[in-house]
Amino acid sequence: MSRIERLCVKKGMRMTGQRRTIARVLSEAHDHPDVEEVYRRASAADPHISISTVYRTVKLFEDGGILQKRDFGDGRSRYEAVSDHHHDHLIDLRSGEVIEFRNEDIEKLQRIVARELGYRLVDHRLELFGVPLQEDE
Ligand SMILES: [Zn+2]
Repeated sequence: MSRIERLCVKKGMRMTGQRRTIARVLSEAHDHPDVEEVYRRASAADPHISISTVYRTVKLFEDGGILQKRDFGDGRSRYEAVSDHHHDHLIDLRSGEVIEFRNEDIEKLQRIVARELGYRLVDHRLELFGVPLQEDE
């Protein structure tokens, strides 16, 4: 059973064969795919899956708190499994590659900023957009 399927079962979702396929595709993806990319991968495994099924299933997983929607500024919603390990993203504007990172100084600074404004920080999103250093030289 894939990690996402396990989460779905734990939440009491009814798992059809197609939902299981989509759950497996998403569990195996580490590149923040959009719905169309999830559809391409899922339909390679099961040609009977339709794009609307993928849309509905992704929405279902998102509403169930299993998937997180990401927006990396190109107008396409990307998805990744909700994880216990918080991370932020750096987007390579040349290749579109998404690099995950975590920086303790940034984490700490954000808590300080929130506290100075009178808040306890519960969540944040940070996206850095860059081009490879070599290309600027
Ligand atoms: Zn990520």
